[in-house]
Amino acid sequence: MKKRVLITGAAGFLGSHLCDRFIKEGFHVIGMDNLITGDLKNIEHLFPLEQFEFFHHDVSKYVHVAGNLDYILHFASPASPIDYLKIPIQTLKVGSLGTHNLLGLAKNKKARLLIASTSEVYGDPLVHPQAEDYYGNVNTIGPRGVYDEAKRFQESITMAYHRFHGLETRIVRIFNTYGPRMRLNDGRVIPAFMGQALRGEDLTVFGDGSQTRSFCYVDDQVEGIFRLLMSDYPMPVNIGNPNEISISDFAQEIIKLTGTDQKVIYKDLPQDDPMKRKPDISLAKEILNWEPQVSREEGMRRTFEYFKTLSLEELDKREH
Ligand code: NAD
Ligand code: UDP
Repeated sequence: MKKRVLITGAAGFLGSHLCDRFIKEGFHVIGMDNLITGDLKNIEHLFPLEQFEFFHHDVSKYVHVAGNLDYILHFASPASPIDYLKIPIQTLKVGSLGTHNLLGLAKNKKARLLIASTSEVYGDPLVHPQAEDYYGNVNTIGPRGVYDEAKRFQESITMAYHRFHGLETRIVRIFNTYGPRMRLNDGRVIPAFMGQALRGEDLTVFGDGSQTRSFCYVDDQVEGIFRLLMSDYPMPVNIGNPNEISISDFAQEIIKLTGTDQKVIYKDLPQDDPMKRKPDISLAKEILNWEPQVSREEGMRRTFEYFKTLSLEELDKREH
């Protein structure tokens, strides 16, 4: 009998790569998504497979799945700042009500649940790099608070089900991850810069560009998530690439990679934009024997190849 896994957010960037990985590992995969920020194109290659099923459903509403389940991965949530600013209530609901529904389902099915948390639980961090024992610096009522606090609540309720009901749970704190199938117009910095380079527009750096991020290639992220799910560790684990770069230096890297002759222009820094971010991955190294394998140069090359295959029409589709 194949093990059965439910993946929420299956039509999104990370969810679709997770579907591929679990199919490759021989699982029966049940994908669920309401397509609010995702795209069926990301998983259409799986539709002919009998070990794959898809349900169009909003997981903030009661979730029913027939048959047994061994694992649940809860990845449904808007993930880019412009998405969660556009749909703040849905973002809060999927992190809270959605997570509650999936915890209930996991309890019913005696399944192990892994939730997708985020480096945003550290907010605009006062500790650098960020290790799992840092409590964070989040503005609860700022515009980004809808995402950060939903994810913090998600962690709390997950730990409560673990402690109170003995549910098997895992929490991954994902740091900026990129790769093929990101939505070109999702507003995150990599698709934004690549789209601008492909359209022949100037690259928009927010603020003075001195803020830093540390970018993890999707294959490395999926490997870390898979290892965490299969581990026996219930506390949060950072998965990300500690190779840190400022956004202005990153813009220069993209200009070089894409060969564009555009320049950088500066725009206002969004409110509460974290000034630095870099994961401390000692814990993942120790308990999962995991560390990233794909350099930024290689990962960005692969990502650019993907964006180059998109049609001009897609490039011009600014709104989702
Ligand atoms: P994405 O927008 O590509 O994917 C999210 C998917 O969830 C989409 O397909 C969307 O339609 C779906 N979804 C949203 N609300 C839903 C709902 N109520 N019911 C059902 N489906 C719903 O984003 P992503 O980058 O793939 O992120 C996936 C998960 O990983 C999110 O939970 C996000 O918070 C987390 N994460 C991602 C990153 C990153 O760098 N990519 C970093 C930290 C955390
Ligand atoms: N950013 C930028 N120009 C853009 C999009 C983003 O300078 O066109 C900056 C943004 O202000 C942030 C960094 O790039 O400092 C990463 O932004 P992203 O939205 O990718 O992710 P997050 O802020 O959630 O890490």
